[in-house]
Amino acid sequence: MIIVPIYNLIILPNTKIYLQIDKLKEINEQELKVGNKILFLISKKENEKTILNKDSLYRIGVVGILTEINVNGFVTVETKERITIEDIHYEENHIQFTLKNKNEIQDLDSDTEKVKLSKLKNAISNFITKFQWGPLVKNFIIEWKTISEVICALSIWLPLEPQEKYELLEEDSLSKRTNKIEDILYEYLEIEEINNEAMNHQEEDHKKVYREVAIKKQMDYLQKELDELHPENISEVNAFERKINESNMNEEAKKEALKILNRMKQETENSPEYGMLYDYLDFITNLSWQKETYKKINLVTAEKILDKEHFGLKKIKKRIIEQIALMNLKQSVTGTILLFVGPPGTGKTSIGSSIAKALKRKYVRVSLGGIRDEAEIRGHRRTYIGAMPGRIMNAISKSGVSNPVIVLDEVDKLSTSYNGDPASALLEVLDPEQNNTFTDHYLNVPYDLSNVIFICTANSIDTIPEPLLNRMEVIEFNGYTPIEKFHIAKNHLLPKIYESTGLSPKSLKITDGAIKRLIADYTMESGVRGLKRVIDSLAREVAVELQKENNTKIEVTAKTIDNYLDIQPIHHDHVTRQKKAGIVTGLAWTKLGGEILFIETLLTKGKGKTIITGRLGNVMKESIQIAISLVKSLYPEKAKILEENDLHIHVPEGAVPKDGPSAGITITTAIASLVTGTVIDPHIAMTGEVSLRGNVMPIGGLNEKLMAAERSGITKVFIPKDNIYNLKDISKEIKDKLEIIPISTVEEVLKLTNIPKKVNKNVNI
Ligand code: ADP
Repeated sequence: MIIVPIYNLIILPNTKIYLQIDKLKEINEQELKVGNKILFLISKKENEKTILNKDSLYRIGVVGILTEINVNGFVTVETKERITIEDIHYEENHIQFTLKNKNEIQDLDSDTEKVKLSKLKNAISNFITKFQWGPLVKNFIIEWKTISEVICALSIWLPLEPQEKYELLEEDSLSKRTNKIEDILYEYLEIEEINNEAMNHQEEDHKKVYREVAIKKQMDYLQKELDELHPENISEVNAFERKINESNMNEEAKKEALKILNRMKQETENSPEYGMLYDYLDFITNLSWQKETYKKINLVTAEKILDKEHFGLKKIKKRIIEQIALMNLKQSVTGTILLFVGPPGTGKTSIGSSIAKALKRKYVRVSLGGIRDEAEIRGHRRTYIGAMPGRIMNAISKSGVSNPVIVLDEVDKLSTSYNGDPASALLEVLDPEQNNTFTDHYLNVPYDLSNVIFICTANSIDTIPEPLLNRMEVIEFNGYTPIEKFHIAKNHLLPKIYESTGLSPKSLKITDGAIKRLIADYTMESGVRGLKRVIDSLAREVAVELQKENNTKIEVTAKTIDNYLDIQPIHHDHVTRQKKAGIVTGLAWTKLGGEILFIETLLTKGKGKTIITGRLGNVMKESIQIAISLVKSLYPEKAKILEENDLHIHVPEGAVPKDGPSAGITITTAIASLVTGTVIDPHIAMTGEVSLRGNVMPIGGLNEKLMAAERSGITKVFIPKDNIYNLKDISKEIKDKLEIIPISTVEEVLKLTNIPKKVNKNVNI
């Protein structure tokens, strides 16, 4: 008898089973023949097939006959009855089993089994059609004749422990065994069905994911191919997407940019909406979102740069170096806003660019002159057609970095209108507490301005709103003296002109005398802007002449300069021409610097009226009232003249508005000069407020006024005594050229201008 130990398999009696031939050969060396008797014994543990002892085997086994040997390596065994192992006995070359038949209880009628079998076969057939190999197995199923055969075939896959499987074989009652088998098989089919469904679902989910990934990969690949074929056509959307991802935008900005990008994807390229979205993305992606770390600045190098580019301005440069030192200590921008105030052409803007160079930062200039609309600072909301970012964000964009030096020019020229208050928007820009989240309406996401260095310039602080002014530290820029202007022209303006025109010191030589004449006779200003313009025009003229005359070299001297300039030189004798009683020279301060002005007075037949012309303001008109009363009280004998005639006071230039109290002394002197018929020396100029008691009170802008006096050929100046302490700030050059006389009363001035105390002579009207 061939003995075959089996494990985890159910082999029942009276069934047909198929086995791999190798399985039999493994243990039995003898030749297999049809008709061999085979004993199947069930092992308790796997791989114990060869140890055939009592403990490793279950007690019940099955006997069968080998009925067929297939060419494909399978054998068919028809099982017969069950046996019980009574004993196992080992001999030298073989083992001796003592076996006993185990009878079955035949309590299942064949009709019931047939019905049950056909139901089961149907269920299995339905189940297996879901598999690819289903149809093949179907033929096999037809062959099944008993339920036991079915279970033998499927036993490997049944979810049962080997012990449970063995229990089936142990059962004597055929109907009970069949019922158990049915339960096991139906349960097995159900479990498999559910597994299968779950697998299908999973598979479908996976399929979806794989499909998506595959499509995306394919798209990327195709897009790449297209891009390579037409590098110029890389779609705008793609380019923006890349830019957004590559930039260091904050979360909010990125979200907004991607939102707009999505909207752009849905628009056709020719729609106006597309253009707007394009502009926005172009703007936001070109802004620098990089946080720059503070780099320490070498103070000596910084000082050198400032000195190289600007002459003089010692105090200002010192203050700037202090500021840089503080920034170095703090390792960041300090938040102090410097406001440079002074007449035009004194270097306020251009030193801003030198500061940027000294700080190794980018420089941008923003002109605020004439801005009335808040949106110019803070941007338009994107809902407007033609909406644009404000000037601040525009400047940042222009600089290409997040930490430039921005010079805000002409902060005094901001004005308010119904479109909001630009000054208050500017306040937000400059406030270090808030400007790290400055939100331009157009950009619509916060931008950090706290690393930007802001510098403001203005001609005067009068029109700057108080809150804005409080934010800033005012630094005054004074006008230049003729010698300073000479240095600036020779060492800074001329080299710049050579550089920009292609002329050279060889082809255009301007003598020192010529430069001095340019300053004295062709300009009348505090700064050097006009001077630069005149030298520019001189250079242009020389350039034409060099080419026309085929010349290589032209020298411009003080004498020949008039030939090259289309401009009329200024005649300084207009000051000295005014030799008439009732005319006195005053000194005025304007936003453009100091100026001289003439107070002209005249008596005409009338009834004591005062006629005022020359666009004088209220304060100045009051000064006139004070002057008249004072003159009446100082010259009671002349009071009648003033009552019987009309007094006309005019201050040229008529079209320029003038105001302020500092002309008080000049007006009083002019009226006194008129009523006494005394001509005042035209080389004398004066400034000072006058009280009703005849005291002369201090004034502002002395430096500019004295420089204007010097420029205009004045030689003697009366200033209020209380302004003496200002003289320390006046350059020696000016003090040397002018005789400066401090005065404290009107009477002192009258005496010094030779107006007699008592006059009897008649005055011609
Ligand atoms: P502001 O802003 O005060 O009106 P700018 O800065 O525009 O004046 O100056 C006008 C021109 O004069 C510029 O070309 C500037 O370089 C030059 N300039 C002014 N001051 C100086 C100076 N101290 N040294 C050299 N150049 C100067």
